[in-house]
Amino acid sequence: FGALGLSQGVYKSVLRKGYRVPTPIQRKAIPPILAGQDVVAMARTGSGKTAAFLLPMFERLKGHSTTVGVRATVLSPTRELALQTHRFCVELSHFVSPPLRFCLLVGGDSMEDQFSLLAANPDALVATPGLLQHLLAPRMMLSLGRVEYVVFDEADRLFEMGFATQLHAILASMPEGRQTCLFSATMPAILADFSRAQLHEP
Ligand code: AMP
Repeated sequence: FGALGLSQGVYKSVLRKGYRVPTPIQRKAIPPILAGQDVVAMARTGSGKTAAFLLPMFERLKGHSTTVGVRATVLSPTRELALQTHRFCVELSHFVSPPLRFCLLVGGDSMEDQFSLLAANPDALVATPGLLQHLLAPRMMLSLGRVEYVVFDEADRLFEMGFATQLHAILASMPEGRQTCLFSATMPAILADFSRAQLHEP
């Protein structure tokens, strides 16, 4: 991890989590993501994919004002995956200072807590597409107009679960110049087409 060029706070957080050497997908994906490129990564659960897209996200978010609005978004196909990714965000950014603020947006029980966190100007969202699109409705006041970095996690499942319309609407609400990363275990034709259309020279 020392060779990946991570800042001190992120590096210390990785060591605290017990990681010593990067997994193959981390070794391959982290440098181009840190360099600002769009990335399509084929990686399954268990490969270390979550840290591969979160560590560069922290580097981009740290040291900036939290008052400008949401600057990064991770889209997850299920509530369970979103919860787990949100937990990783907190753990893997433990020593980042000032602390980054993450907001989990999934349907279900704790919606009121989620909305008060959203009102408190988080740096990044971890969300399922259905709820996120719902919150983009004009009267809901959520803007993704400052998002610089978006991740489609388990992208094949996002499409299998029928979220295509929501995903297009969500992307359309983000700036053109954002960085887009797509992580997927498989690459069906619909996903390859989506990557060609929505990512910039991935
Ligand atoms: P993921 O594929 O992101 O779901 O990660 C699978 C598991 O591997 C999780 O428990 C991670 O905490 C763990 N993990 C991720 N990266 C590393 C690493 N470089 N060294 C050891 N464990 C890791």
